[in-house]
Amino acid sequence: MNETIQNSRDEEPCGPHVAPCIERLLRVQKPGRYIGKEFNAILKDPGACEFHMALAFPDVYEIGMSHLGLKILYSIVNSRPGMYAERVFAPWPDMEQALREQGQPLVTLETGTPLGNLDVVGFSLQYELCAATVLQMLDLGGIPLRSRDRSDGDPLVIAGGPVAFNPTPMSPFIDAFVIGDGEEAILEIAQEYIQWKRSRETRQELLSRLKTISGIYVPALHEPGEIVRKRIVVDLDQAPFPTNAPVPFCETVHDRIGMEIARGCTRGCRFCQAGMVYRPVRERSARSIIDLVLQSLRETGYDEIALLSLSSGDYSHICDVIRTLNAELAPRKTATSLPSLRTDTFDSQMAAEIRKVRKTGFTLAPEAGAERLRRIINKGNTEADLERALTQAFEYGWQSVKLYFMIGLPLETDEDIEAIANLARKAAKIAGRKKITVSVSSFVPKAHTPFQWAEQIDIPEIKRRQASLRRALTKARATVKFHAPEMSFLEGLLARGDARMSDVIETAYKNGARFDGWDDQLRLPLWLEAMERHGLDPHSYLRARGLDEALPWDFVDIGVSKAFLFEEWQRALREEATEDCRHGQCAGCGVCDFEKIYPRLGQALTRECAEESPRNAAPEHQASQRRFRLQYRKKGPMSLLGHHDIERAFHRAFRRVGLNLAYSQGFHPHPRMRFSPPTGLGIESECEFVDFDVVGYEEESGRLLETLKSALPEGISPVSLVETPLNEPPFFAKLQYVTYQIVAQDHVSLDALEAGVREFHESTSFVMSDVRKGKRRSRDLKTWIARLERRDNTLQMVLKTSPAGSVNPREAARTILGLTLPRRCRSK
Ligand code: SF4
Repeated sequence: MNETIQNSRDEEPCGPHVAPCIERLLRVQKPGRYIGKEFNAILKDPGACEFHMALAFPDVYEIGMSHLGLKILYSIVNSRPGMYAERVFAPWPDMEQALREQGQPLVTLETGTPLGNLDVVGFSLQYELCAATVLQMLDLGGIPLRSRDRSDGDPLVIAGGPVAFNPTPMSPFIDAFVIGDGEEAILEIAQEYIQWKRSRETRQELLSRLKTISGIYVPALHEPGEIVRKRIVVDLDQAPFPTNAPVPFCETVHDRIGMEIARGCTRGCRFCQAGMVYRPVRERSARSIIDLVLQSLRETGYDEIALLSLSSGDYSHICDVIRTLNAELAPRKTATSLPSLRTDTFDSQMAAEIRKVRKTGFTLAPEAGAERLRRIINKGNTEADLERALTQAFEYGWQSVKLYFMIGLPLETDEDIEAIANLARKAAKIAGRKKITVSVSSFVPKAHTPFQWAEQIDIPEIKRRQASLRRALTKARATVKFHAPEMSFLEGLLARGDARMSDVIETAYKNGARFDGWDDQLRLPLWLEAMERHGLDPHSYLRARGLDEALPWDFVDIGVSKAFLFEEWQRALREEATEDCRHGQCAGCGVCDFEKIYPRLGQALTRECAEESPRNAAPEHQASQRRFRLQYRKKGPMSLLGHHDIERAFHRAFRRVGLNLAYSQGFHPHPRMRFSPPTGLGIESECEFVDFDVVGYEEESGRLLETLKSALPEGISPVSLVETPLNEPPFFAKLQYVTYQIVAQDHVSLDALEAGVREFHESTSFVMSDVRKGKRRSRDLKTWIARLERRDNTLQMVLKTSPAGSVNPREAARTILGLTLPRRCRSK
């Protein structure tokens, strides 16, 4: 095995179509966030595209890449010739610091284009607490923060997502908002932009063009009294779904295919903004779900799919879909999961289907502990529903269940807090020795919901209720987790914020606010100072709203009438339930025209489809098993991936080419792949190995090698492939020595290299001190380095290794040379 470490001297400059700056990446916590180059990432020539935009996600890569909406828009824009959508995610503070120190702008992931050089930057606003991070991205991208300060040469800044339903606080920073579903609107914006570009009109004229598009709100041109009606994609089966989304290397928050089985929900939970703004319910047909899932798996290599909607258990043919998918996917160990479920929709049929493959996490959302409060919020589930769902989950093999509750709901009393504790205790009793986690968030009233008029409790009251619940659950066998009160408080200020909040957002950003949705990043005092500076009382944003009061979001028409929301608020006060209109009577919310827009239930599978047998793989015990050993190189940004990221990249590549890997037995089967020991971060390698076992593969190894060459990401290059006996020990068991080449930086003279080597050879011991898991330790390099010599400006170092590990070559070189850490590594 032969590896080289090279210093940063050969580093490429940042810019279009170049590798990310490895020097900079080695300074940050998670370089994998910034390297791009994922399988399925789209590279076009920006110079050949009339429309070049970035889909900007104001949070880190791992969160942004878990978001389906971003992938949908990426696929839609890039499917059009002459249009190019790249991605950009918020840089974590360590990367922001590196960019600022080096005077570098924030750039797109695909081509390294500075944001300020794009035609359009489109933000996805998923959460109110991303407000300051949006400004961070604009600022780092070289784009003036305020719309009014942008000139013809600056990008157009657009935004959409749930937060856009109350766009007022962010209005000064955004040129145009997309209200509602974005699939059609994004292309209409692109077409208008291209027409505008060709006509060489002013920026003002561009905004006027955009204002003519349905669902677009242009703050600068908005007249008092004007209404902006949301966009609706009426038929989900006609909407594009991204089956070939980029496949991240690093682990994302939702590391799986998210299949949107339905949009909208008509259950009518009165606290739920998504349930109101995304009405009516529109289900995809069962056949289409299955086809899209299978195609997505082939094109990405994931091993888990999640069937997503606001209430997945309500999907009309959920059991048929899970059963059919399982028949296809269980032999390939592909798991099916559902996001948090209502307690009344989980039944034994569903449990029986999901248990057939790996059991993914299981979450139930009773929301409130007492039946009275559940009636008030219109949740409509009963204690018996929860008990039945829990019993079935544990009977069918789940080891842990998470329960979601909210505190601070309107009309909540101390008895309701006690009722949460009672329910959690019952759940823990049913769980026995298995695990119950109780996750408790605080209610935040949202715009366009029946509870938009409600009061929000402040931080001391949240803490009091949390303490009371914690006390009540002291002896229960349940883990309790609380959402940070400060975060709910700030979310509340922004969610029902008005125009005066814009100055607060800008001041808080300029004083250092970023990533406020992260517990360890939120600094509430910055926001309170900003409120004070602008003469605002935070509590005035938490207060109950008057029923005749004009609300900042009144000009946004979500289709659901204010009269309906008001009536629902009154029904809540009377503890009256409102039925789901999906199967029953229309409750008159107002969103449907019953010509094009109406609740659409998905078509069922035909009997043949529902009963058809697995097509893909023979059962493992019937098929022959073979073991292969692949040698590969790891170069460039791939050297910045952690060992698990590399494993993941291989696993998904194997799946994409249809290889049936053999799996371990047990509750959580793992694919049988064994890699050579991890190299340090940033070390390129000429000679890495992976041993893997395959079931039912009949071709010769040469053909498999060619297949893998095309399936693995750029920078991981297969060199050779041999078949080994099934009882062959893994490669790492035999490995004794590793050769590294460490190229000295410019400021290190040949004399210094020579002196370091000479001193090493003349010493009887050469102690290296390093820190591992927070503890300092000393090791004698004389026992680890088998050979050391200088060749020109390079140290050739042969290190002993064993399954128990070795020493870090970079640290060893630093010790020998007494130099700063060499940055970049390369193998030969
Ligand atoms: S208009 Fe009627 S049918 Fe349509 S979503 Fe509203 S309540 Fe349901």
